[in-house]
Amino acid sequence: MVAPVNFYGYNAAGGDVVMLRSLKNLEIQNKRVLVRVDFNVPLKDGKVTNDTRLRESLPTIQYLIEHGAKVILVSHLGRPDGKIVDALRMNPVAERFALLLGKPVRTADECVGSGINTLVSSMKSGEVFLLENVRFYPGEEKNDDNFSRELAQLADIYINDAFGTVHRAHASTYGVAKLLPSAAGFLLEREVTMLNKATLNPARPLLVIIGGAKIADKIGVMKDFLGKVDQFLVGGGSAFTFLRAKGWMVGDSIIDEKLVEGVKQFVKDAYVKGADVILPQDFKIAQELKPGVERSFAPADKIPSGWMGLDLGPETIRDFRRRIKAAKTVIWSGPLGAFEIPPFDEGTRAIAQTIVESPNLFAIIGGGDTAAAIEQAGIKDFKNIYVSTGGGATLEFLGGRTLLPIEILKA
Ligand code: AMP
Repeated sequence: MVAPVNFYGYNAAGGDVVMLRSLKNLEIQNKRVLVRVDFNVPLKDGKVTNDTRLRESLPTIQYLIEHGAKVILVSHLGRPDGKIVDALRMNPVAERFALLLGKPVRTADECVGSGINTLVSSMKSGEVFLLENVRFYPGEEKNDDNFSRELAQLADIYINDAFGTVHRAHASTYGVAKLLPSAAGFLLEREVTMLNKATLNPARPLLVIIGGAKIADKIGVMKDFLGKVDQFLVGGGSAFTFLRAKGWMVGDSIIDEKLVEGVKQFVKDAYVKGADVILPQDFKIAQELKPGVERSFAPADKIPSGWMGLDLGPETIRDFRRRIKAAKTVIWSGPLGAFEIPPFDEGTRAIAQTIVESPNLFAIIGGGDTAAAIEQAGIKDFKNIYVSTGGGATLEFLGGRTLLPIEILKA
C-alpha cells in the first residue's frame, strides 16, 4: 500500500513528523544560555503596545532561571537594516519584560564585543540580560560567519524560541546554532508540534485564506500550496492585484503592479492543479483610511477612481462564510480589511466568527496582525482554532519549505 502523503509533502505514515531537540535534555545549571526570542513587539511613543510575544516567551525563560542558567536574550525589533536606529533600541522592551518576569532585566547598547563579553562573564546564575537589537548589525541578516562566532562566544548553549523568525536563516537564528550545543525552546517546540499535528493528514476541503496588504510577501508561499489545497480565498489588500490581473477597475486600492503578470500565471497554475482562487465580489470603500470617514460599497469591478476598497463587502462576506462552513481545515493569514480602523474590521470579524461557529472545522491562524484582529473580535481559547505566533514562518512551514533554523534543531 502506498503510504499517505500529507499536504505539505512529508510522508504522514513514514514518520516524517518534525521532532526537535528539547531544552529539557540539556544540563544548564550555571551555564550561559543564549536564547533567540521574538521580542519584535509594536511600540508607540517608546512604550510597548502589545506584549503578547513577551508573554509567550515566559515559560522558556522561567524554566532557565529556575534551573540556574545565566540567561542572555537576543532579538530583533523592527527593520533597522544593519544600522543603529535609536527608536528601535531594546530598552522599552526590557522594561516591560522585567515587569512580566518580576525580575530585573539588564540591558546593554551592544550585542557583541569585549564590553558585552565582560558583562556576560560577570553574570550570576538566574540573572537575565537582554542584548541590543541584533538587526543593528549588518552581519545578522547576512548570516555572517564572524558575527555568528561573536554571538556564540557569549554563551555555552543556544536555544531558539523565536518561531516568528524561523523562515529567516540569520546569524542569531541559524549561524550561531551551528556553533553551540543547541535546542528548541518551549514556544518553538509547541508551534512545530501543533502545526505538524494539525496538518499531517488535514481533513478536506482545505482552504487557505490570504489577506493583508502585501501580496508580494505571500505569493511565493501560495505557490507552495498549489496541488495541496482545494481553495484559496483572497481578501484584504492582497485581492486587488488579482482583480487588476483580470483587467478590472480597482480605483485607488492598493495593488502591486510588478506582480500583476505573476498573479495571472498563479491563477492559471492553480486551475491546472485543481485549486479554485476565490476573489471578493464587492468591497466596502472610502476615499481615505481614517476613523469616521464617509464609506460606501462597490462591486469588485467598479471601484471608482479616488476610492479604495478597504474591507470585504456584504456579498463577499456571505460567499466566504458559505465556503468556510463547507470546509474542514482552514489556514488563514492576513486581515481581510484595514481592521485597525472600524468599520473596516467587519469582514475580518465576520470570518473569525464563522470559524468559531464551525466546530467541525480546524483552523490555523498565523501572523501578528491576524492574531490581533481575531483578539480584537473577542476570539481566543477555542478548541478548533490554533493561533500561531508566526506569520510568514507559519505559512512557509505549512507550505513545506525547508527552514534551516528548524532543520538544525531536528532531533
Ligand atoms: P500584512 O503585513 O501584509 O499581513 O498586512 C497587514 C495590514 O494589511 C493591516 O495593517 C491591514 O490594515 C492592511 N490591510 C488589509 N486590507 C487592506 C486593504 N483593503 N487596504 C489597505 N490595507 C489593508
